[in-house]
Amino acid sequence: MSKKTTVAESRSPDAVGREVLLQGWVRTRRDSKAGFSFIELNDGSCFGNIQIIADADLPNYASDVKCLAAGCSVSVEGLIKASPGKGQATEVQATKLTLHGTADVKTYPLQKKRHSFEFLRTIAHLRTRTNTFGAIARVRNCVCNSIHQFFQERGFLYVNTPVITASDCEGAGEMFQVTTLTLDNVPKQAAAVDFAQDFFDQPSFLTVSGQLEAEIFACGLGKAYTFGPTFRAENSNTARHLAEFWMVEPEVAFCDLEGGMDLAEQLLRRIVADVLEHLHEDMEFFRKHIDKTVIKTLRHIIDNGFVRLSYTEAVESLQASGQQFEFPIEWGADLQSEHERYLTEHHFQCPVIVHDYPSAIKPFYMRLGDDGRTVRAMDVLVPTVGEIIGGSQREERLDVLATRMREQGIDPDNYWWYLDLRRYGTVPHSGFGLGLERLLQFITGMTNIRDVIPFPRTPGNVEF
Ligand code: ATP
Ligand code: MN
Repeated sequence: MSKKTTVAESRSPDAVGREVLLQGWVRTRRDSKAGFSFIELNDGSCFGNIQIIADADLPNYASDVKCLAAGCSVSVEGLIKASPGKGQATEVQATKLTLHGTADVKTYPLQKKRHSFEFLRTIAHLRTRTNTFGAIARVRNCVCNSIHQFFQERGFLYVNTPVITASDCEGAGEMFQVTTLTLDNVPKQAAAVDFAQDFFDQPSFLTVSGQLEAEIFACGLGKAYTFGPTFRAENSNTARHLAEFWMVEPEVAFCDLEGGMDLAEQLLRRIVADVLEHLHEDMEFFRKHIDKTVIKTLRHIIDNGFVRLSYTEAVESLQASGQQFEFPIEWGADLQSEHERYLTEHHFQCPVIVHDYPSAIKPFYMRLGDDGRTVRAMDVLVPTVGEIIGGSQREERLDVLATRMREQGIDPDNYWWYLDLRRYGTVPHSGFGLGLERLLQFITGMTNIRDVIPFPRTPGNVEF
């Protein structure tokens, strides 16, 4: 058996008696009066550290071991023993220790036990070495894996949709423009920019959603999902908005809104169950240090259905609540985050799916309901975060779709390919977008979305 192993494996009681090679970063060093040292080592394989015992008779004890401090990188060979200490099953008696890189205690930023998340954002290249950000990285990885497994097991095609696009799915104001024109000397035709001289011969943007392209695949191959970065130039400095975030977007042919809601519920349940099963120690950390209720809330999701109610019913319960809202609610207005949170945190105290919104506040592609004034839209709302999923049944009727486009000031000719999907072999179909970082906030209890993505992009921040 190879000696090289992980801290995760070495911490199991089964590992006692094994000769191992461990490699990682020192968290702390303590020296005993009896003349040996305890080193806490972490290698990212799990939340916990392993304790290394380094005796004074190691040949480089004085030169290397005594210099070890937080941040140093080492290789340690040794024997795993049962640990007499409490809170750990095993420890490693070192037979050889190699110091790869020192970390100067005077300048290495991660000396204290606790740092504010604001400070850690300024050192995004080092924050992965903290307990919190190691745990977030593992949860994020587990969630992504779970998402792919969920869809693959159900026969969905994973489709890579373009990052650069000419179509504006949601609203032009929020898009980043892509150009190779020289900004301080833009070519003009009369007064307007001459896009014939730009790279794509027309204005182009970073995508806000892969939905329209996912629809192409669903309306021909059945079931598809995209999972990629999306970009929104919204200048909103909130704890729930990023300029670059990741979105999972399934699209299913021969599926109505109810089918879409069922799929959203199953997906969320599955992800949560996987995280609780595989990342026990990380989740305990979030429960203890970030949000006491987080595991309870997640368990509740697995065991109970989500409440579903129409927008009209939601407005009625908000009006009947007697609650003072900053934005008073009336039929026709979009739900604000205070309304969403009231419904999910106070009124129902569980995830809520609100469906059938007024058509005037939703995009052209959502299917017009039989009442003519609502569309078959749905939003999934969860406690503390609010909206994490937005979706709908798509409008599959050519004439209705074209009319809705014109009503919203969109030229159907620019979307000729999207209309073709309705012109030839149209089918009822549904889909949604799940924001990965919003979901991670919900799962970990982290209050700021900038802390659940490795390198957050927000107004004024693009350094790392
Ligand atoms: P909100 O009203 O909260 O801004 P939205 O209505 O713009 O959300 P959609 O366009 O429906 O959201 O996008 C689908 C999902 O993508 C949302 O439910 C959310 O999880 C996520 N999302 C949207 N905008 C952002 C953003 N700026 N940063 C992170 N996630 C986002
Ligand atoms: Mn938005």
